[in-house]
Amino acid sequence: MNIVETIQEVRQIVGEWKKKGLTVGLVPTMGYLHEGHASLIEQAAKQNDKVIVSVFVNPTQFGVNEDLDSYPRDLQHDVKICEQAGGDCIFHPEPEEMYPQGFCSFVDMDVLTKELCGITRPTHFRGVCTVVNKLFNIVMPDRAYFGEKDAQQLAVIRRMVKDLNIPIEIIGCPIIREPDGLAKSSRNTYLSPEERKAALVLYKSISAGKQLVSSGEKRAEIIIQKMTEILTAEPLARIDYVKIVDAETMQPISEIDRPYLAAIAVYIGKTRLIDNFS
Ligand code: AMP
Repeated sequence: MNIVETIQEVRQIVGEWKKKGLTVGLVPTMGYLHEGHASLIEQAAKQNDKVIVSVFVNPTQFGVNEDLDSYPRDLQHDVKICEQAGGDCIFHPEPEEMYPQGFCSFVDMDVLTKELCGITRPTHFRGVCTVVNKLFNIVMPDRAYFGEKDAQQLAVIRRMVKDLNIPIEIIGCPIIREPDGLAKSSRNTYLSPEERKAALVLYKSISAGKQLVSSGEKRAEIIIQKMTEILTAEPLARIDYVKIVDAETMQPISEIDRPYLAAIAVYIGKTRLIDNFS
């Protein structure tokens, strides 16, 4: 397993692979890897000759009062998970390597980024688009892997690749959950034992919404109402949003008459968790 910190080293490694005609998959992460990340790496290893995993807590996607400083980090553990899942190289740059003095170019997006998480986190997707674009330009992979756990992010990346003619195939991978249903997330480590129990309410709400849709309910309002009711019953939960949107544009819809995304964001104590179904 190669662990590199500079852009030059990554370019050299990928350059050698490409000279041999090998295909390259990229899995962008913020580290503190768990089975959710591992599933992306495994998928990338199945579809490509070589896999690069980036581990970078990207400062530009955090808002001023968010958890940039407290975000969990453990590179040794990440190396282990990455190796087991079939990764070949970890790119772990320092913030200065990605954002040197004088950095002032950003990739921004309208429409999709103004809904859902974009309301509470107005600068988040600008940071995501910028860093993912930089990673694409640095690694120049054939394919890049993103989790459906962050469904809006996946839709944003798909849109960006289309709009900016980036020749990389974007692969979405299913949500990996804890045995009790909570979606795996590096941020789950913030939860106290009591909050961890309360966090199950997200999955309960998602399951109830899914159930309604499978039973034929098409009215977004009814589905949202049921999901909200379940979340509201948990005293430790505070809703950020419960929404049903068009799967491609992220704009709210009133009827499920096309591919959709039902998404929730909920604070459990101070920790903001997201989940979705589609
Ligand atoms: P993060 O390190 O949280 O930025 O996540 C890196 C990538 O892993 C993103 O594409 C996430 O959507 C994906 N991911 C995180 N958690 C999960 C999960 N529970 N299931 C599937 N993918 C996930």
